[in-house]
Amino acid sequence: MTTRKRILTGVRPTGPLHLGHYVGALENWLRLQNDYECFFLIADYQALSDHIEEIDRIRQSVIEVTLDWLAIGLDPQKNAFVIQSYVPEHAELTMLLSFITPLGRLQRNPTLKSEMEKLRETDLTVGFFNYPVSQIADILLPKAHLVPVGEDQLPHIEMTRDIAGKFNRTYGNVFPEPQAMVGRVGRLVGTDGQAKMSKSLGNCIYLGDDEASVTKRVMSMYTDPTRLRATDPGHVEGNPVFMYHDAFNKNLDEVKDLKERYVVGRVGDVEVKKKLAKALNDFLGPIHERREHYKKHMDDVHAALLDGTRRAKKVAEQTMQEVRDAMRISKSPA
Ligand code: ATP
Ligand code: MG
Repeated sequence: MTTRKRILTGVRPTGPLHLGHYVGALENWLRLQNDYECFFLIADYQALSDHIEEIDRIRQSVIEVTLDWLAIGLDPQKNAFVIQSYVPEHAELTMLLSFITPLGRLQRNPTLKSEMEKLRETDLTVGFFNYPVSQIADILLPKAHLVPVGEDQLPHIEMTRDIAGKFNRTYGNVFPEPQAMVGRVGRLVGTDGQAKMSKSLGNCIYLGDDEASVTKRVMSMYTDPTRLRATDPGHVEGNPVFMYHDAFNKNLDEVKDLKERYVVGRVGDVEVKKKLAKALNDFLGPIHERREHYKKHMDDVHAALLDGTRRAKKVAEQTMQEVRDAMRISKSPA
């Protein structure tokens, strides 16, 4: 019997993983995977919330995400890789929790609010509006203690704590109130300078991108808009290229030197970007090698998913039994 505390965290299979996922979340998962029993969820039900007509893309992305996880070094023996839709208890708990979630609580959720504003009215479905409740169910089903995520997820974890507390007070103690943990860079900016690198904004460098594409992306990145010539003094603060240097370049002396020269106008954007492209390609190289290895061993990839999902299903069945017992439903009326 394991005594490790539990983690639940995950991604939506709406595309492969990018640098933002890495510094916002994955790096913490790697660090914590030996100390916690982790459930890494591929949230394919949740992907439907805004990709209902792209089922093939979701199915393909389940594999892409798994390859990325294996490539960065997540261990499917010690921890469970879980496909959400293979564990329908996620849907059952979502439904039950939706009855104790006040509508106003969702309406005030800042992450949900800003995502809703980006959708056309006809694309804003009840299912999309309810996705934070499905995330609460995801976290509570394995009774997670810790949820390592990017900063945009904090309002959802706060709601999770509230709803877990409300359930426990109403029906009896079933769920721990989980803590959030945000990565080294809580919200990595996009290559276009937008506030968040995000699959849906198309401003990403993916972990699987080859050297040439990474270099091309970096060379076209946004820098300091106020600087017209390499001899103009530039700004390092708020400059996406330097944010990426800080996040990924292991050569700290090089970064320091570039910054010092940038602010006095003694280095051009091209040199700063070339050095960034090299740093990123050095970082991604070993990830690509492991990805190629797993692509030649697809049986291992599928086995990791099936094995983890089976383990998660057992845990989910047990929690749902406790939930039904606590709520006194699915019991004979006598
Ligand atoms: P989508 O645009 O489809 O929502 P996404 O890029 O936001 O995709 P998710 O699957 O929603 O990816 O997020 C997975 C995890 O990665 C979450 O914990 C999220 O907070 C984190 N994350 C995503 N993008 C970033 C980013 N740019 N910086 C830091 N963390 C991020
Ligand atoms: Mg997202």
